[in-house]
Amino acid sequence: MKRIQLLVFIVLTLATVTPAFAQDYFPDIPGYKTLACDLHTHTVFSDGMVWPTVRIDEARRERLDAIAISDHIEYQPHKADLPTNHNRPYEVAKQLAVEKNVLLIKATEITRDTPPGHYNALFLEDIDLLDTPKFMDVIEEANKQNAFVFWNHHAWKGEDRGKWSDLQTTLYEKKWLHGMEVANGGSYYPSAHKWCLEKNLTMLGNSDIHAPASDDPYTAEKHRSVTLVFAKERTVESITEALRAGRTAVWFENQVIGRQQYLKPLFDGCVTVAKAHYQKNSTLFFELTNKALIDVQLERTGKSGPSEITIPARSSVIVTAKLPNGKKTVNLSYRASNFLIAPEKGLPVEFSVTSH
Ligand SMILES: [Zn+2]
Ligand SMILES: [Zn+2]
Repeated sequence: MKRIQLLVFIVLTLATVTPAFAQDYFPDIPGYKTLACDLHTHTVFSDGMVWPTVRIDEARRERLDAIAISDHIEYQPHKADLPTNHNRPYEVAKQLAVEKNVLLIKATEITRDTPPGHYNALFLEDIDLLDTPKFMDVIEEANKQNAFVFWNHHAWKGEDRGKWSDLQTTLYEKKWLHGMEVANGGSYYPSAHKWCLEKNLTMLGNSDIHAPASDDPYTAEKHRSVTLVFAKERTVESITEALRAGRTAVWFENQVIGRQQYLKPLFDGCVTVAKAHYQKNSTLFFELTNKALIDVQLERTGKSGPSEITIPARSSVIVTAKLPNGKKTVNLSYRASNFLIAPEKGLPVEFSVTSH
């Protein structure tokens, strides 16, 4: 290959690859890109405080791969200044989204009394057709448009008003309900986490942001609640497929919440164990490194190693463990207490370290 051809080839190859913005926070998992997605946001077109393009600038600044602008259908306090036009927030924001490399999802929030509560519908074609009085008709129309529908902040008026009732069973049996918010803004809902596991619903975590976003850099503790979507590609189509397949986790405060089958590869991508760099008698010294923006908390479940280990975000710690008598390898069993595979249940993890 001539040098100029090689140069063209390299430039084209680079141009076709967009690493996920979420890489700033979490690694990819085998076979999938990890995408940071906020699938529940508001603008002035309902009760939010910003123009739709501002949500795109914020997403770019915060390294979110995708957002859904999901203004309320039934609640528009700025109606006197902005006439009802449910499709406009998406149209207003979409050109800037393309320019800023943020994936924008056309969406709405179906906003009824609680019960039945609030539901987001994503990937819609025409939101105007959802502006209809009967709740069941709206959900049916969303599904006619092939929307992905999830139940938002179900317990925001208390667990009793957010309980799973015949209505949810009907939606579920018709396959009209596909997920639930396990986290919304500053709230985590263990009951939603449990129902998602039992009923095989997709877990979501979103900001439900109304005010302008803070421009403070993200920390392990302080960041938007987002859905980590494990997608084949960094495209809206791939996000649709991943949501339907349930390939998500929720990044909420200093925790990730989800199914074991996704939290395990995510943990393995975040945390690496180095070979022992030093040995004193039967004690091994080794490093645990964490590349993600979460302070990984480990609690011992086995016999070896410290009872608790915290590996700060994007950092490493030196750990010591004693070799069992006459052995060259020590096996360490822990629970990652802030990788929640069920309410109050941390992910089991194992390491082994060998004498050098
Ligand atoms: Zn709501
Ligand atoms: Zn909302």
